[in-house]
Amino acid sequence: MKALILGGTAEATALAKELGQSATLSLAGATKKPATTPHRTGGFGGIEGLARYLAAENIDALIDATHPFASQMSRNAAEAAALAGVPLLRFIRPAWAKAPDWEMVDDLSAAALVLPQSARVFLSVGSRSVEPFLGRGDVWFLTRSIEPPPALPAHGELLLQRPPFALADEGALLKAHRITHLVSKNSGGAATHAKLEACQQLGVKVLMVERPQLPAVLEVVSVADALTWVSKIKGKL
Ligand code: NAP
Repeated sequence: MKALILGGTAEATALAKELGQSATLSLAGATKKPATTPHRTGGFGGIEGLARYLAAENIDALIDATHPFASQMSRNAAEAAALAGVPLLRFIRPAWAKAPDWEMVDDLSAAALVLPQSARVFLSVGSRSVEPFLGRGDVWFLTRSIEPPPALPAHGELLLQRPPFALADEGALLKAHRITHLVSKNSGGAATHAKLEACQQLGVKVLMVERPQLPAVLEVVSVADALTWVSKIKGKL
């Protein structure tokens, strides 16, 4: 039994650990110092490249455990699995439940447009998603990411930190920088949820970027359910 796990999330790493020798964990190579050592790194070369890889490596099961916003990879996985005739499962972290006072936006560009002049923004969207905000020279940004973004907004500070984050620390950060707005993707998960609680406590406005639409495939929301699916595939081989 050989499974290919498309990673980039803590849950993908946990799944790879559980499956041991029978799984290959693949990372895009976007993070210079990933929290885990992948078994392979870098793109496959689009849909055809991934389909070729699945066939060449005799992969029996494909698990797309990428981040909910890694929509290109998820689309490629759906197409390539169909082409290669390999069963596909998507692990997707449940989205955070919408709070009544959040302002939902379709994408990062919409968030950048909605921010009012002179806002003091906590930009917590990942190092490669800062670009849409570069045109807002009238706004101050506290940009937090694991690795430095390729470019930073004209006004603000950069904070390099890796989750998890605690509620008390998030509250102190918002206060220290007199933050008025948070921009976040609806990534879900416990490790980065404290910023939302801190915003609620302090009356900081939340702009939440909606998840992208993904192709309809079989989905699970827990690592345990993904393991059960793998066992079923194993049983059929
Ligand atoms: P993306 O736009 O969906 O994918 C762009 C390209 O990167 C894909 O077409 C593929 O290249 C390659 N790729 C992506 N994930 C890969 C993987 N696990 N293994 C091998 N190649 C992969 O992805 P993204 O948004 O740039 O994210 C890149 C990685 O960072 C993903 O693995 C994701 O799980 C992780 N991540 C993303 C976010 C986010 O907010 N987007 C947040 C945290 C972590 P080819 O077409 O050449 O195969």
